[in-house]
Amino acid sequence: MVAAISEEVPTDLEPIFRSQPRLSPEERAFVVRAYYFAAEAHKGVKRFGGEPYITHPVAVAQILADLRLDAPTLAAALLHDVAEDKEDIEIEDIERQFGAEVAQLVDGVTKLKKLPTNTDAMKNGKAGDREAETLRKIFLSMNNDIRVVLIKLADRLHNMRTLGYTPPEHQIKKARETLDIFAPLANRLGIWQMKWELEDLSFRYLNPEKYREIAAQLEIRRAEREKYLETVKARLSKEITAAGIPIVQISARPKHIYSIYRKMERKRIPFDQVYDIHALRVIVPEKAQCYQVLGIVHSIWRPIPSEFDDYIAAPKNNFYQSLHTAILDDQGKTIEVQIRTPEMHENAEYGIAAHWRYKEGTAHDKEFEERLRYLRRLIEAAAEDVSAEADAQEFVKAMRSDVFQNRVYVFTPKGDVIDLPSGATPIDFAYYIHTDVGHRCRGARVNGVQVSLDYRLQSGDRVEIITTSKRAGPSLDWLNPSLGYVQTSRARHKIQAWFKRVGRENNIALGRNVVDRELRRLGLLAKPREEVAALFGFNKVDDFFSAVGRGDISAPSIATKVLEADRKAQHEAAAAPLAPTTEPHTHPVNASDGIDIMGDSGMLITLGRCCNPVRGDPIVGYITRGKGVTVHRADCPNVINSSEPERFINVTWGTSVERAYPVPIVITAYDREGLLRDIGAITANENINIADLRVQTRNSIASIFLTIELESLEQLSRVLAKIEMLPNVIEARRRVSV
Ligand code: MN
Repeated sequence: MVAAISEEVPTDLEPIFRSQPRLSPEERAFVVRAYYFAAEAHKGVKRFGGEPYITHPVAVAQILADLRLDAPTLAAALLHDVAEDKEDIEIEDIERQFGAEVAQLVDGVTKLKKLPTNTDAMKNGKAGDREAETLRKIFLSMNNDIRVVLIKLADRLHNMRTLGYTPPEHQIKKARETLDIFAPLANRLGIWQMKWELEDLSFRYLNPEKYREIAAQLEIRRAEREKYLETVKARLSKEITAAGIPIVQISARPKHIYSIYRKMERKRIPFDQVYDIHALRVIVPEKAQCYQVLGIVHSIWRPIPSEFDDYIAAPKNNFYQSLHTAILDDQGKTIEVQIRTPEMHENAEYGIAAHWRYKEGTAHDKEFEERLRYLRRLIEAAAEDVSAEADAQEFVKAMRSDVFQNRVYVFTPKGDVIDLPSGATPIDFAYYIHTDVGHRCRGARVNGVQVSLDYRLQSGDRVEIITTSKRAGPSLDWLNPSLGYVQTSRARHKIQAWFKRVGRENNIALGRNVVDRELRRLGLLAKPREEVAALFGFNKVDDFFSAVGRGDISAPSIATKVLEADRKAQHEAAAAPLAPTTEPHTHPVNASDGIDIMGDSGMLITLGRCCNPVRGDPIVGYITRGKGVTVHRADCPNVINSSEPERFINVTWGTSVERAYPVPIVITAYDREGLLRDIGAITANENINIADLRVQTRNSIASIFLTIELESLEQLSRVLAKIEMLPNVIEARRRVSV
């Protein structure tokens, strides 16, 4: 025996045992022993702030005791940093002293710290990879024993609380990492308390001005706000009691600075208009009473319909349950009200950690197991979709998109509930049901109505996939991110896998079709394919087609590259002198390039090659016989030294701002009502201006000629593709010769 079991509890541990009163005397003695072991290991070591190191593991254990975690977790929390300060302490020593369970927890936490590892990504030393690798490890350990992650979160929380003592670069780095990784993780695990504290602490370092501003605004009106909420509370309590419903608790809800900031940003509203500045929480014993209270709230005040959420019937993806509503009082003030039962409240505050408190109870254990299974399923699905050789970044990307996002809950025709990341489409749904259903998916009905495959599923939708019986595969368009057909990495990987499998020959054929289609749209069908391949660095045109067919090169990128090359070629052609002149160092430009000539317009204008004026430079024009006007910078030596000042005229840069790319296009379609409106909606959606429009109809086939003004070339392919997807449209392409 290393240390005799002492009856005496060290003062450091007293608050911990007060927070977690459920420990047996043996368990307490066990935790005390871990404390002495850690205190010995950290003896003489100080933290950044100058206090003894042992205060840190004690604080971490305290956070976990507040979550009412079990004795092995508390012991492991006390021991989590010992290997760091005492190099001669091995995990085997901890196992010998405290058993395998604690040793595994400590080992898990230590492994999360030991970075970098020797994955390829690490060797490349990319900055983001280190964080990605951390995350990946966290997710994987979450899969083994979730308590490892809880200790890690508590460790991070205490480090964030004491971050003020560390160097500024370190503060920013840790705050960023916390906001990006640890706060979402706490949210995913449903530990609301930790989530908001991690967010507020990070925000304080990442955006100190905004943090102080919001904190100050909260402080200024605190007294006024509290008084106001007291009267609201009194009124509501009276009505609830009158209805015969016992109130467990009714209180003003704490305000979280970061969530107020997020609301201000997201809704672009000032501080005063954030709904939950005035927020009440009502806790009543039974679920049915929650709805009764909701009815009472809505009968006293006018509800704001868009702010009502029933998270009891449809819990959030982290199992959060509550009724949320917002109302307008007689003076037009908004008040947010949350209504829940004590059990829902506990789940909201402690999340997944709540379940260790009932270790003895079997009923809760079952629910807990279900939660864990759910999390594991998500993690495994994400891990499975990422190929074995994929690096940490990709894994994390998959986790981020599939696990962390908000989710929508939809129904199969049989009534099974399926949850998908928000933004998921019928294609994501189809691949979720079965890979084969995804491959054969040709259409979808939502709530009985046919929808397009890029439809965004909404919670409550009943989704039915229309499949083809033919042996067919997915469309390459589904992989085109700008068309938004696919949201989940699962569907994306299944589609990519299909295209990989169909092999090179198929890829070449597919790729050739895509290239043909893009070039046709651009009005450049005659362009040699070798030239296009060369733009992407391919010597062999088949290799290029194959890359396109595999989905490695997207259709929009082909259009962009080709158009850019074309413009460059045109520009160079234009830059060459049109005719021999006495002044060869000039090149013609036209007025639309931004030059207005004072007085006589329509003169040929050229920019002086000697001084290359650019927009914004002070300029003067110089009249050259038979050649029009050459524009020079005002400080050009040729101007200053000129012997013929009478040949200078005033010129100014035109007033046009950043010029759009005007592109003439033609759309062929079977004429129908509303077609122009639909086209207009697509261009409006892309923020594209239509400069000119002409329609010709012959034998019920309409040719629509229009010029669209693009902000960037990559818009072109997307807009043409979207127009071609409209009903009745035969094709949409660029016009080359007008
Ligand atoms: Mn630590």
